[in-house]
Amino acid sequence: MIDKLNHTAAIQSVQLRQLLSVSKVSLIASVSLAVFLASVQWEVIPSADMLIWCSLMVLASLMRAAFVYLPQRYPANDSAAVRAQLGKFRLGVIVAGAIWGSAGFLLFPAGQQEYVMFLVFVLAGMTVGGVASFSADLVSSLSFAALITLPLVIRLLVAGDSISMTMGLAVLLYLGFMLMTLWRINRSVIENITLRIEAAARENIVREGKERYRLLLSHLPVGIFHYDTNLVITYSNDRFANMLHSTAERLVGLDMKQIKQQAILPSLNCALQGEMGYYEGHYLATYSDAEAWIHMTCAPSRDGNSNIVGGIAIVQDVTERKRAEDKIKNLAFYDPLTDLPNRRLLMDRLHQALASSARSGKEGALLFIDLDNFKALNDTLGHDMGDLLLRQVAQRLTFCVREDDTVARLGGDEFVVMLEDLGEEDTEAAAQTEVIGEKILATLGQPYQLVTHEYRCTPSIGATLFKGHHLEKEELLKQADIAMYQAKKAGRNTVRFFDQQMQDVVTARVVLEAELRKAIEKQQFRLHFQVQVDRSNRPLGAEALLRWEHPKKGLVPPEQFIRVMEETDLILPIGQWVLDTACAQLKAWQQDAQTRHLSLALNVSATQLHQADFVSQVQAAVQRHGINPVLLKLELTESMLLKNIEDTIKTMSALKEIGVQFSLDDFGTGYSSLQYLSRLPLDQIKIDRSFVRDIASDSSDREIVGIIIAMAQNLYLDVIAEGVSTEEQRQFLMGTGCFHFQGYLFGAPVPITEFEANLKQD
Ligand code: C2E
Ligand code: MG
Ligand code: MG
Repeated sequence: MIDKLNHTAAIQSVQLRQLLSVSKVSLIASVSLAVFLASVQWEVIPSADMLIWCSLMVLASLMRAAFVYLPQRYPANDSAAVRAQLGKFRLGVIVAGAIWGSAGFLLFPAGQQEYVMFLVFVLAGMTVGGVASFSADLVSSLSFAALITLPLVIRLLVAGDSISMTMGLAVLLYLGFMLMTLWRINRSVIENITLRIEAAARENIVREGKERYRLLLSHLPVGIFHYDTNLVITYSNDRFANMLHSTAERLVGLDMKQIKQQAILPSLNCALQGEMGYYEGHYLATYSDAEAWIHMTCAPSRDGNSNIVGGIAIVQDVTERKRAEDKIKNLAFYDPLTDLPNRRLLMDRLHQALASSARSGKEGALLFIDLDNFKALNDTLGHDMGDLLLRQVAQRLTFCVREDDTVARLGGDEFVVMLEDLGEEDTEAAAQTEVIGEKILATLGQPYQLVTHEYRCTPSIGATLFKGHHLEKEELLKQADIAMYQAKKAGRNTVRFFDQQMQDVVTARVVLEAELRKAIEKQQFRLHFQVQVDRSNRPLGAEALLRWEHPKKGLVPPEQFIRVMEETDLILPIGQWVLDTACAQLKAWQQDAQTRHLSLALNVSATQLHQADFVSQVQAAVQRHGINPVLLKLELTESMLLKNIEDTIKTMSALKEIGVQFSLDDFGTGYSSLQYLSRLPLDQIKIDRSFVRDIASDSSDREIVGIIIAMAQNLYLDVIAEGVSTEEQRQFLMGTGCFHFQGYLFGAPVPITEFEANLKQD
C-alpha cells in the first residue's frame, strides 16, 4: 500500500516537473495568441466584451506566470506537497482554459464568417498546443481542451446557419479525435515515467548493494582477498592487510607464486580447480615477516558464464585460539611447576617406547626417583623453598639424560626418567642404566643454592628394564616404585633394580669397576705374548694380550673385564699403557739380532681409536721408544670400523703414513661389509678362531675360510689364522692357502720371560 502511494507520488513529482518545464513556452504562446486574437477581433466585437475578456486573460496569465516563474519550494519526496502543487497547477490550467473557452462566446462575431473562422482557427491551435504541452497530466490536458472547445462548439451550433453548425460538428469531431490521441499519448508518457522511476530505483538498489558489500568486506572481522587465475591478488580487505602488517594497496598485485609461505598454494589452487581449498597452519608474511596461525578457506570465483576467473579466500587469524589450545595441552601434559612432562604424558611416551622397543629389540629402562627427606625441607624452610628445589632438581635431571630420553614429574618429590635404545641384552642394558643412575645420584647430590640457604639432598632411585610389551605400563611403573623403596631401605642415596638377578649383575659390575680403578692404581696389569708363526713354524712375531693379576683371584682373562673398561673409558689409560709396554718390548727386541725381525700385534678398542688424538698418541710412543713402526701392528675389529667409516679411514691412513700396520681381528664374525673392506688401508686379515675350531669337521666353516682367503688374496692382504690348536687344523688351513698361524699348537699366551725362553729353545 505504502509502496503504491510512494510510486504514485513519484510519478506525480515527475509529471509536475515536466509540466512546469513546458509551462514557460506555453504561457508565452498563450499570451502571444491572445494578443493576436484580440487585435484581429477588435473591429468586430463590442469593446465592453473585448475589455472583459482581455482583463480576464491578463489576470489569468499573471497568475500562471507567478506560478511558473516564482521558485516553488516543496520537498520532492513529500507526496502531499507534490499533490497540492499539482492541484495548483491544474487550477491555473483550468482557469486559463475557461478564459480561452469564454472567447468562444465573448469574441464570437456572429455573421462575420471570416472572423468566426479565425476564432475557430486560434482556439483550435490553442487546444492543440495545450494538449501537447500538458500531455503529461491527463486532467490538465483534458480539462484545458474541453474548456476551450466546448463553449465554441455550443456557440457554433446555436448560431443557426448551416456553415456554423457544420463547423461546430467538425470541431466536436476534432475534439473527440484529439481526446483519443491524448489518451494514448498520456498513457505512454506515464509508462515512460514509470519505467524511468523503476530504472532509477533499480540502479539505486544495485548501487546500495555494492556499497553494502564493500562496507561488509571492509568491516568483517575476517580477512578476505580475491585473486586471479595467475594467483595474483586483485583485492584485499583491510582486515587481511592488518593481519599481515601491510596495506591493502600494497597487497593488491602481489604474485603469490613468489611468497615465502608456499604451503598455502595448494589450497589456493584448489579453488582454481573448482573445489574448496583449506589451510590451517603457521603463516609467515612475505613483506613484513609478521607471523600468525591462520585458518583459510578458498572458494572459486566465477563470471556470468560460470567460468572460473579466480578465487576468494577467507582468512581467520586463529593465533589466539592456537595459543589457548597449546596452553590447555601444556596444562594437560606438563607439570606447571617444573615444565616437565606429567604422569599422563609419561604414560603416553612409555606406550610408544614399548612399541619401539618391541620393533628394535633394544631395551629401555624406567628410573623412579624420590628425594630423600624432602618433607623435612618443606616443613622447615617452607613450600616456596621446596618448589625452588624441585625446579632445580628437574633441571639437573634433564642434564643427566640424552635429548630423546624422558624426564617426568609424577607429583610431590617423585620424578621418573625413561631411557630408550639401551642394549639388546639385559646385562648390557642394566649396566647402562646403572651408569645413568649413578650419574643422577652424583648430580642431584651436589649442593643446591636455595636463595640464601645452601641445601644438600640425596635421591633414592629404583630402576626396572623393559623390552617390548611383556608388561603393562602401570606394572612397570610399580616395579620401579618398589625398587625405589628398596633403595630407601638400603640406606637411601642409592640405585636399586627391581629384578634381583639384575641387581646382582649391576652390583658385581659396580664392584668390578671399583676394583679395576684400584688395579690401575696398583699396576696389576700384565702383558702376555702369544707367538705367531709361518708355514715352517718359524716365529714371525707375537700378539700382546692383556692380563689382570688379581691379588686373590690370580690371573683374570680380558673377557671378564675389557667390556666394563670400554664402557667406563678405563680402557683409555690401560690402552695407553699397553701401547707403551708393547713399544718398549719392540725396542728391546730390536737390540738383539735374533729377535730384530719380530713384529708385535696389539688390540685396540673402538673408544681408543676414535679419540681425537689417537694418531699423535701412537706417533709419540713410536718416537719415544725409537722403534721401527712397520713392526707395530694394530688389531681392529670389523664392528668398530663401521661406526664412523670416514673418520676411521682418515685415522688409519694417517697411521699408515707413519708405517704402522693394521690387522682385521676376528674376521668373519662381524658384519663383514665387503664393500668397505677394499676402502680400508689394511695389511692383514685374521680369521676368527671360531672358524678354525671346526674346520676339520664342518664343511661350511671350511667353505667360509676358503672364501675369506680367496678374498684376501684378491685384495693383496696377508692372512693369519688364530686359535690353531691341532696339526689337522694347520694342514687344512695350508691346503686352503693360509700360511700364517697363531694358537696353542705353537704356544699359549705367556709372560715375556717365558716367551723369550721358548724362542731360544726353538
Ligand atoms: P683376540 O684379540 O681375538 O685374542 C685372541 C684370543 O684367543 C686370546 O684370548 C687368546 O688367548 C686366545 N687363543 C689363542 N690361541 C688359542 C687357541 O689355540 N685356542 C683358543 N680357544 N683360544 C686361543 P684372550 O687373551 O683371553 O683375549 C681375549 C680378547 O680380549 C682378545 O681377543 C681381544 O679382543 C681382547 N684383548 C686382549 N688384550 C687386549 C688389549 O690389550 N686391549 C684390548 N682392547 N683388547 C684386548
Ligand atoms: Mg687380537
Ligand atoms: Mg681374535
